[in-house]
Amino acid sequence: MIADNLHRVLSTLPQGVRLVAVSKFHPVCALQEAYEAGQRVFGESHVQELVEKEALLPKDIEWHFIGHLQTNKVKYLAPFVSLIHAVDSLKLLKEINRQAERCQRIIPCLLQIHIAQEETKFGFTPDELRQMLCEGTWCELKSVQIAGLMCMATNTDDQQQIANEFTQAAQIFQEVKGTYFPDDKAFCELSMGMSGDYLIALQHGTTLVRVGSMIFGERDYSIHKQP
Ligand SMILES: *Cc1c(COP(=O)(O)O)cnc(C)c1O
Repeated sequence: MIADNLHRVLSTLPQGVRLVAVSKFHPVCALQEAYEAGQRVFGESHVQELVEKEALLPKDIEWHFIGHLQTNKVKYLAPFVSLIHAVDSLKLLKEINRQAERCQRIIPCLLQIHIAQEETKFGFTPDELRQMLCEGTWCELKSVQIAGLMCMATNTDDQQQIANEFTQAAQIFQEVKGTYFPDDKAFCELSMGMSGDYLIALQHGTTLVRVGSMIFGERDYSIHKQP
């Protein structure tokens, strides 16, 4: 069933858009099934869960961290993570840089922008993002590579509102690319769209969709409580 779901989602993606299979709260056997169906990019949002799964699954998996990341946990991901989607402060970016340096790696990161009308979502507001980039410290962080932006739309049934938010995100992406990364081919990713709204995101220039429940089904939130 997971393989069928995966192929159904993949069949809707145009060329140039990659699928991050969001496997948080799903057991290793579910990821294994998606892996055997050809999926190589997985997204997780809890550090310990990701570290445990990474140890058990094949080494050619590209692990993306998509959740809110605490600075004190960066060190656990730094040795292997392929992309950190939700960098929401300069402090976090600096810590990723520090840990990447220790591992002699360059870690690709996306800056999370907060557009949704929800208090609970993390990220830079557009003005905070402009200020952070303008201030310039990020340029000195040689062990992180800012590879684009990430955003989450408001959790709503209002398709027009979601479309408006993705439109705004795409505009800010173009602005930031034009101002700070005009000649940087690595600044190319716009991570937006989840199971409920990725089809809308596809119409607004997403390059990475983060789809979980449409592939793996409902999440079992008791997984973390097991001994
Ligand atoms: C859980 C999660 C997803 C996937 O959500 P689904 O609705 O299951 O597709 C995508 N992005 C982030 C940041 C998430 O935390």
